[in-house]
Amino acid sequence: MGLRVNGHRVALDRHEPDSDLNFVSHAHSDHTSGIRKGKGTITSEVTRALLESKGKKVTMAAVPPGVRLLNAGHMFGSRQFYVDSDQNGYSVVYTGDYQMQKAYATEGIEVRKADVLIIDSTYPNPNVVFDSREDVIAAIQCYTKQKVNWGTVLFGAYSAGKAQELISIFNEIGIAPVVDEKVGEINKVYTSFGVRLDYEVASESQPRDNFVGIVNISKLTQNKIEVERRTERRAFTAVATGWAKVMTFETDVQFPLSDHADFKQALEYVSLCEPKVIYTVGSQSGIFALQLQKAGYSASPFFQGALDEQMIKAIANGR
Ligand SMILES: [Zn+2]
Repeated sequence: MGLRVNGHRVALDRHEPDSDLNFVSHAHSDHTSGIRKGKGTITSEVTRALLESKGKKVTMAAVPPGVRLLNAGHMFGSRQFYVDSDQNGYSVVYTGDYQMQKAYATEGIEVRKADVLIIDSTYPNPNVVFDSREDVIAAIQCYTKQKVNWGTVLFGAYSAGKAQELISIFNEIGIAPVVDEKVGEINKVYTSFGVRLDYEVASESQPRDNFVGIVNISKLTQNKIEVERRTERRAFTAVATGWAKVMTFETDVQFPLSDHADFKQALEYVSLCEPKVIYTVGSQSGIFALQLQKAGYSASPFFQGALDEQMIKAIANGR
Protein backbone atom coordinates (compact mmCIF):
# COMPACT_ATOMS: atom_id res chain seq x y z
CA MET A 1 0.00 0.00 0.00
CA GLY A 2 1.60 3.21 -1.14
CA LEU A 3 1.25 6.68 -2.54
CA ARG A 4 3.12 8.30 -5.42
CA VAL A 5 3.81 11.91 -4.55
CA ASN A 6 6.32 14.46 -5.90
CA GLY A 7 8.33 11.79 -7.65
CA HIS A 8 8.47 9.53 -4.58
CA ARG A 9 6.73 6.25 -3.95
CA VAL A 10 5.88 6.25 -0.27
CA ALA A 11 5.02 3.00 1.51
CA LEU A 12 2.32 3.56 4.12
CA ASP A 13 2.89 1.61 7.35
CA ARG A 14 4.12 -1.53 5.60
CA HIS A 15 6.88 -2.91 3.42
CA GLU A 16 6.63 -2.11 -0.29
CA PRO A 17 9.62 -3.46 -2.27
CA ASP A 18 9.63 -0.70 -4.92
CA SER A 19 9.06 2.26 -2.58
CA ASP A 20 11.88 4.74 -1.94
CA LEU A 21 10.38 6.21 1.24
CA ASN A 22 8.62 4.59 4.14
CA PHE A 23 6.02 6.33 6.33
CA VAL A 24 5.52 4.97 9.86
CA SER A 25 2.43 6.50 11.45
CA HIS A 26 3.21 5.35 15.01
CA ALA A 27 5.26 2.96 17.11
CA HIS A 28 2.91 -0.06 17.32
CA SER A 29 4.61 -3.08 15.76
CA ASP A 30 1.86 -3.78 13.19
CA HIS A 31 2.79 -0.49 11.51
CA THR A 32 6.58 -0.75 11.40
CA SER A 33 7.30 -3.56 8.91
CA GLY A 34 8.43 -1.02 6.27
CA ILE A 35 11.54 -0.09 8.25
CA ARG A 36 14.50 -1.38 6.25
CA LYS A 37 18.22 -0.79 6.49
CA GLY A 38 19.23 2.09 4.21
CA LYS A 39 15.66 3.11 3.38
CA GLY A 40 14.55 6.56 4.53
CA THR A 41 11.69 6.63 7.03
CA ILE A 42 9.27 9.50 7.52
CA THR A 43 7.93 9.55 11.05
CA SER A 44 7.71 11.84 14.09
CA GLU A 45 10.72 12.32 16.37
CA VAL A 46 8.71 10.76 19.20
CA THR A 47 7.99 7.62 17.16
CA ARG A 48 11.65 7.39 16.12
CA ALA A 49 12.70 7.56 19.79
CA LEU A 50 10.08 4.97 20.80
CA LEU A 51 11.21 2.58 18.05
CA GLU A 52 14.88 3.04 18.94
CA SER A 53 14.08 2.31 22.61
CA LYS A 54 12.82 -1.07 21.35
CA GLY A 55 16.10 -1.64 19.46
CA LYS A 56 14.91 -0.70 15.95
CA LYS A 57 17.34 1.33 13.85
CA VAL A 58 15.53 4.13 12.01
CA THR A 59 17.08 6.11 9.16
CA MET A 60 15.10 9.33 9.17
CA ALA A 61 14.16 10.95 5.84
CA ALA A 62 13.05 14.56 5.36
CA VAL A 63 9.34 15.11 4.84
CA PRO A 64 8.96 15.86 1.07
CA PRO A 65 7.83 19.38 0.05
CA GLY A 66 4.06 19.71 0.07
CA VAL A 67 3.67 16.98 2.69
CA ARG A 68 2.83 17.56 6.35
CA LEU A 69 2.48 15.21 9.28
CA LEU A 70 -0.71 15.81 11.26
CA ASN A 71 -1.42 14.52 14.78
CA ALA A 72 -3.53 11.35 14.74
CA GLY A 73 -4.60 11.27 18.41
CA HIS A 74 -3.97 7.50 18.66
CA MET A 75 -0.84 7.40 20.84
CA PHE A 76 1.98 9.82 21.67
CA GLY A 77 3.86 10.64 18.45
CA SER A 78 1.21 9.18 16.11
CA ARG A 79 0.88 11.10 12.84
CA GLN A 80 -1.18 11.17 9.64
CA PHE A 81 0.45 11.63 6.21
CA TYR A 82 -1.07 14.71 4.58
CA VAL A 83 -0.39 15.93 1.04
CA ASP A 84 -1.26 19.61 1.05
CA SER A 85 -3.42 21.00 -1.80
CA ASP A 86 -1.78 24.47 -1.69
CA GLN A 87 1.47 23.10 -3.06
CA ASN A 88 0.22 20.17 -5.11
CA GLY A 89 -3.16 21.21 -6.50
CA TYR A 90 -4.73 18.17 -4.86
CA SER A 91 -4.86 16.84 -1.32
CA VAL A 92 -4.64 13.36 0.19
CA VAL A 93 -4.57 12.19 3.77
CA TYR A 94 -3.67 8.78 5.18
CA THR A 95 -4.87 8.50 8.80
CA GLY A 96 -3.04 5.46 10.16
CA ASP A 97 -4.63 4.54 13.52
CA TYR A 98 -6.54 7.56 14.80
CA GLN A 99 -9.29 8.69 17.15
CA MET A 100 -11.36 11.82 17.53
CA GLN A 101 -11.45 11.84 21.34
CA LYS A 102 -8.55 13.43 23.22
CA ALA A 103 -6.67 10.80 25.21
CA TYR A 104 -4.32 11.40 28.14
CA ALA A 105 -0.58 11.47 27.37
CA THR A 106 -1.27 11.99 23.63
CA GLU A 107 -1.60 14.96 21.28
CA GLY A 108 -5.16 15.67 20.08
CA ILE A 109 -6.04 14.87 16.45
CA GLU A 110 -5.84 17.43 13.59
CA VAL A 111 -8.27 17.05 10.69
CA ARG A 112 -7.85 18.86 7.34
CA LYS A 113 -9.97 18.83 4.21
CA ALA A 114 -8.71 16.43 1.53
CA ASP A 115 -9.80 15.24 -1.92
CA VAL A 116 -8.79 11.65 -1.13
CA LEU A 117 -9.04 10.06 2.31
CA ILE A 118 -7.24 6.80 3.10
CA ILE A 119 -8.71 5.74 6.43
CA ASP A 120 -8.14 3.01 9.03
CA SER A 121 -10.97 0.52 9.61
CA THR A 122 -10.27 -1.12 13.01
CA TYR A 123 -13.89 -0.73 14.23
CA PRO A 124 -16.01 -0.73 11.04
CA ASN A 125 -19.48 -1.52 12.44
CA PRO A 126 -22.02 1.14 13.46
CA ASN A 127 -23.19 -1.12 16.32
CA VAL A 128 -19.87 -0.72 18.18
CA VAL A 129 -20.20 2.59 19.99
CA PHE A 130 -17.60 3.77 22.49
CA ASP A 131 -18.79 5.48 25.66
CA SER A 132 -17.64 8.97 26.52
CA ARG A 133 -13.97 8.90 27.49
CA GLU A 134 -14.63 10.89 30.68
CA ASP A 135 -17.15 8.27 31.86
CA VAL A 136 -14.77 5.35 31.16
CA ILE A 137 -11.91 7.16 32.91
CA ALA A 138 -14.14 7.94 35.91
CA ALA A 139 -15.17 4.26 36.08
CA ILE A 140 -11.50 3.12 35.97
CA GLN A 141 -10.54 5.58 38.70
CA CYS A 142 -13.52 4.71 40.90
CA TYR A 143 -12.96 0.93 40.59
CA THR A 144 -9.24 1.21 41.24
CA LYS A 145 -9.59 3.50 44.26
CA GLN A 146 -12.09 1.14 45.85
CA LYS A 147 -10.38 -2.20 45.11
CA VAL A 148 -6.88 -1.11 46.11
CA ASN A 149 -8.18 -0.96 49.70
CA TRP A 150 -8.78 -4.71 49.51
CA GLY A 151 -5.81 -5.94 47.55
CA THR A 152 -3.80 -5.33 44.40
CA VAL A 153 -5.29 -4.07 41.13
CA LEU A 154 -3.56 -5.33 37.99
CA PHE A 155 -4.31 -3.79 34.60
CA GLY A 156 -3.30 -5.62 31.43
CA ALA A 157 -2.32 -3.15 28.71
CA TYR A 158 -0.12 -2.72 25.65
CA SER A 159 3.29 -1.42 26.74
CA ALA A 160 3.30 1.57 24.36
CA GLY A 161 0.41 4.01 24.42
CA LYS A 162 -2.23 2.43 26.64
CA ALA A 163 0.14 1.85 29.58
CA GLN A 164 1.16 5.53 29.64
CA GLU A 165 -2.44 6.64 29.29
CA LEU A 166 -3.37 4.48 32.30
CA ILE A 167 -0.47 5.90 34.33
CA SER A 168 -1.84 9.43 33.67
CA ILE A 169 -5.35 8.27 34.65
CA PHE A 170 -4.01 6.86 37.95
CA ASN A 171 -1.76 9.88 38.58
CA GLU A 172 -4.88 12.06 38.47
CA ILE A 173 -6.18 10.27 41.60
CA GLY A 174 -2.79 10.33 43.34
CA ILE A 175 -1.70 6.77 42.49
CA ALA A 176 1.76 6.05 41.05
CA PRO A 177 1.37 2.57 39.52
CA VAL A 178 4.05 -0.13 39.42
CA VAL A 179 5.08 -1.07 35.87
CA ASP A 180 7.34 -3.67 34.28
CA GLU A 181 10.77 -2.87 32.75
CA LYS A 182 9.40 -2.68 29.21
CA VAL A 183 6.83 -0.04 30.13
CA GLY A 184 9.54 1.74 32.14
CA GLU A 185 11.76 2.05 29.04
CA ILE A 186 8.89 3.49 26.98
CA ASN A 187 8.01 5.88 29.83
CA LYS A 188 11.55 7.30 29.65
CA VAL A 189 10.90 8.35 26.03
CA TYR A 190 7.59 9.98 26.97
CA THR A 191 9.17 11.92 29.84
CA SER A 192 12.12 13.00 27.65
CA PHE A 193 9.54 14.69 25.38
CA GLY A 194 7.88 16.46 28.30
CA VAL A 195 5.03 14.08 29.28
CA ARG A 196 4.73 13.88 33.07
CA LEU A 197 4.36 10.31 34.33
CA ASP A 198 4.59 9.28 37.99
CA TYR A 199 5.31 5.54 38.32
CA GLU A 200 7.63 2.92 39.84
CA VAL A 201 9.44 0.15 37.99
CA ALA A 202 8.74 -3.24 39.65
CA SER A 203 12.38 -4.32 39.87
CA GLU A 204 13.31 -1.09 41.69
CA SER A 205 10.32 -0.78 44.05
CA GLN A 206 9.77 -2.22 47.54
CA PRO A 207 7.27 -5.13 47.54
CA ARG A 208 3.93 -3.93 48.96
CA ASP A 209 0.66 -5.62 49.82
CA ASN A 210 -1.76 -3.27 48.12
CA PHE A 211 -0.74 -1.53 44.90
CA VAL A 212 -1.83 -0.78 41.34
CA GLY A 213 0.18 -2.53 38.63
CA ILE A 214 0.27 -2.31 34.84
CA VAL A 215 1.54 -5.43 33.09
CA ASN A 216 1.58 -6.83 29.58
CA ILE A 217 -1.85 -8.23 28.81
CA SER A 218 -0.36 -11.68 28.06
CA LYS A 219 1.20 -11.85 31.54
CA LEU A 220 -1.84 -10.79 33.55
CA THR A 221 -2.79 -14.24 34.88
CA GLN A 222 0.80 -15.14 35.74
CA ASN A 223 1.22 -11.83 37.63
CA LYS A 224 -2.06 -12.31 39.49
CA ILE A 225 -0.96 -15.75 40.74
CA GLU A 226 2.45 -14.44 41.83
CA VAL A 227 1.01 -11.38 43.62
CA GLU A 228 -1.68 -13.40 45.44
CA ARG A 229 0.91 -15.96 46.56
CA ARG A 230 3.22 -13.24 47.90
CA THR A 231 0.65 -10.92 49.52
CA GLU A 232 -1.94 -13.55 50.55
CA ARG A 233 -4.55 -11.04 49.42
CA ARG A 234 -6.75 -10.78 46.37
CA ALA A 235 -5.34 -9.43 43.09
CA PHE A 236 -8.11 -7.92 40.96
CA THR A 237 -7.54 -8.01 37.21
CA ALA A 238 -8.75 -5.56 34.56
CA VAL A 239 -8.23 -4.60 30.94
CA ALA A 240 -8.78 -1.21 29.30
CA THR A 241 -9.33 -1.65 25.56
CA GLY A 242 -11.91 -0.99 22.87
CA TRP A 243 -12.15 -4.75 22.34
CA ALA A 244 -14.05 -4.83 25.65
CA LYS A 245 -17.03 -3.78 23.49
CA VAL A 246 -16.78 -6.82 21.22
CA MET A 247 -15.33 -9.68 23.27
CA THR A 248 -15.10 -11.06 26.80
CA PHE A 249 -11.78 -11.17 28.64
CA GLU A 250 -10.94 -13.55 31.47
CA THR A 251 -10.54 -10.69 33.94
CA ASP A 252 -12.60 -9.43 36.89
CA VAL A 253 -13.60 -6.36 34.92
CA GLN A 254 -13.11 -4.84 31.45
CA PHE A 255 -13.21 -1.15 30.58
CA PRO A 256 -13.89 -0.06 26.95
CA LEU A 257 -11.11 2.53 26.77
CA SER A 258 -10.13 2.65 23.09
CA ASP A 259 -7.48 4.62 21.23
CA HIS A 260 -9.21 4.00 17.90
CA ALA A 261 -12.19 5.68 16.29
CA ASP A 262 -15.53 3.86 16.35
CA PHE A 263 -17.87 4.22 13.35
CA LYS A 264 -19.47 7.36 14.80
CA GLN A 265 -16.07 9.01 15.17
CA ALA A 266 -15.15 7.87 11.63
CA LEU A 267 -18.23 9.70 10.30
CA GLU A 268 -17.21 12.77 12.31
CA TYR A 269 -13.75 12.61 10.70
CA VAL A 270 -15.22 12.19 7.22
CA SER A 271 -17.61 15.13 7.64
CA LEU A 272 -14.71 17.42 8.64
CA CYS A 273 -12.38 16.08 5.92
CA GLU A 274 -15.00 16.33 3.11
CA PRO A 275 -13.25 13.82 0.81
CA LYS A 276 -14.44 13.18 -2.75
CA VAL A 277 -13.27 9.56 -2.53
CA ILE A 278 -12.53 7.34 0.48
CA TYR A 279 -10.25 4.30 0.51
CA THR A 280 -10.45 2.05 3.57
CA VAL A 281 -7.44 0.11 4.86
CA GLY A 282 -6.88 -2.76 7.29
CA SER A 283 -8.39 -6.20 7.77
CA GLN A 284 -11.92 -4.76 8.13
CA SER A 285 -11.66 -2.54 5.05
CA GLY A 286 -14.39 -4.38 3.08
CA ILE A 287 -17.05 -4.05 5.80
CA PHE A 288 -16.04 -0.47 6.54
CA ALA A 289 -16.28 0.58 2.88
CA LEU A 290 -19.75 -0.99 2.68
CA GLN A 291 -20.91 0.89 5.79
CA LEU A 292 -19.53 4.18 4.40
CA GLN A 293 -21.32 3.53 1.10
CA LYS A 294 -24.57 3.01 3.05
CA ALA A 295 -23.91 6.37 4.73
CA GLY A 296 -23.76 7.95 1.25
CA TYR A 297 -20.00 8.16 0.62
CA SER A 298 -17.93 7.03 -2.34
CA ALA A 299 -15.82 4.42 -0.56
CA SER A 300 -13.92 1.27 -1.49
CA PRO A 301 -11.18 -0.87 0.05
CA PHE A 302 -7.66 0.28 -0.85
CA PHE A 303 -6.31 -1.87 -3.67
CA GLN A 304 -2.87 -3.45 -3.75
CA GLY A 305 -0.11 -1.19 -4.97
CA ALA A 306 0.18 2.58 -5.02
CA LEU A 307 -2.24 5.42 -5.61
CA ASP A 308 -0.64 7.58 -8.30
CA GLU A 309 -0.79 11.32 -8.85
CA GLN A 310 -2.75 11.11 -12.14
CA MET A 311 -5.54 9.24 -10.40
CA ILE A 312 -5.60 11.63 -7.42
CA LYS A 313 -5.63 14.65 -9.76
CA ALA A 314 -8.57 13.17 -11.69
CA ILE A 315 -10.49 12.68 -8.41
CA ALA A 316 -9.59 16.21 -7.23
CA ASN A 317 -10.80 17.69 -10.54
CA GLY A 318 -13.99 15.63 -10.45
CA ARG A 319 -13.17 13.64 -13.57
ZN1 LIG B 1 -1.81 1.44 16.88
